[in-house]
Amino acid sequence: MNDYDAVIVGGRVAGASTAVLLARAGLRVAVVERSRLGTDTVSTHALMRAGVLQLSRWGLLPELVAAGTPAIRQTAFHYADGADAHVTLRATRGVDALYAPRRRLLDRVLVEAAAAAGADVLHETPVVGLRRDDGGRVLGVRVRAADRREVAIGAALTVGADGLGSLVAREAGAELLSRGRAASAVLYRYVDRVPSSGYVWAYGTAAAAGLIPTDEDQTCVFVSTTPARMRALRRDGAEAAFHSLLDAVPAALSGAVRAGRSAGRLHGWHGAPGQVRRSCGPGWALVGDAGYYKDPITTHGITDALRDAELLSDAVLEGLGGGSPVVALARYEATRDRLSRALYDVTESVARYDWDGDQIRALLRRVSSAMSDELDHLDARPARRPERV
Ligand SMILES: Cc1cc2nc3c(=O)[nH]c(=O)nc-3n(C[C@H](O)[C@H](O)[C@H](O)COP(=O)(O)OP(=O)(O)OC[C@H]3O[C@@H](n4cnc5c(N)ncnc54)[C@H](O)[C@@H]3O)c2cc1C
Repeated sequence: MNDYDAVIVGGRVAGASTAVLLARAGLRVAVVERSRLGTDTVSTHALMRAGVLQLSRWGLLPELVAAGTPAIRQTAFHYADGADAHVTLRATRGVDALYAPRRRLLDRVLVEAAAAAGADVLHETPVVGLRRDDGGRVLGVRVRAADRREVAIGAALTVGADGLGSLVAREAGAELLSRGRAASAVLYRYVDRVPSSGYVWAYGTAAAAGLIPTDEDQTCVFVSTTPARMRALRRDGAEAAFHSLLDAVPAALSGAVRAGRSAGRLHGWHGAPGQVRRSCGPGWALVGDAGYYKDPITTHGITDALRDAELLSDAVLEGLGGGSPVVALARYEATRDRLSRALYDVTESVARYDWDGDQIRALLRRVSSAMSDELDHLDARPARRPERV
């Protein structure tokens, strides 16, 4: 007999959310995560409306708000040709504000909700390989325990929520369906007392930057460009590259950053092209960046991970409820791809950094329209039970 109905590799947004939903439905779930509980990961945190909707439907938004995550109701866009636009968030579809919680808060809230629903959550436990039967079906994972011994965990389904470099995808042989070519290299840091109350996006010449108010009264400030340009700028050091890219975007944003007070070191991301992988096979499935990764310039990876956790958990429950598990998982992948395609494609174009003012405005209109389609789908779904049944 299996130890679990599902073992989930990776305990951040995709994995912990999937665990919440499956454990609340009464399944026996384990989450295996190699990092410590409550740690940060590379991210600038901005949630879009669909992500906030998910957290709200799952009953987890109040805890994030109570922890000091500020409500964001305005977004400003600044362009190199001097134009700007200010958008006030309309309170619709159960969302009256956006939020950008630090990952050490968001991922902890999700994983604690999974544990509260009955999942076994193991941190500081790396998965070192998959277990399979003679026919190749995945039967669970092998983990490195605290005493360095390898321990097997058996499960009917192994979920790879282990990010872009997914071990589950690699070992399961998940086929690569699509790979992009463009990528953003990013530098970001946290700054105190930035005079801004909402998201601020600025687009310069082959460079972009953003202000993202997060918890602990700080603003996450990022700059981004192509990997080649970032490498060239970083020859003079990360600090010089950060300021050079701030100078390359409209002064409305850089001025606000300079009025604040730096609160720490720079974090960097080298850039990686988008990719979509086949996300299910015998005994395994992928969710989050493990199955579908796109460049962070459209700040939508967390929102997508929260969406796909729900699509996958629905498929798993459908498979257990008398439907064909194979068909249900294939439908999960097809729905994910249908909802992702438009945003994936436009993100690839934004990440090329070859636009002028009119072109980037047109691309951002496409981003907005892609997000509406996804929201329509989620909004039409029945509310999820906030408690374990
Ligand atoms: C620079 C940057 C900025 C970003 N900014 C935003 C933003 O503003 N808004 C947004 O929505 N998205 C943003 N993203 C994207 C977002 O961070 C990702 O889409 C999101 O983190 C994906 O979540 P995930 O749970 O799939 O994977 P991850 O967050 O990568 O989590 C995977 C987890 O799996 C664990 N793991 C991996 N291998 C193993 C193993 N063998 N055993 C056990 N555990 C393992 C890892 O420790 C990790 O904790 C950004 C990304 C980058 C790079």
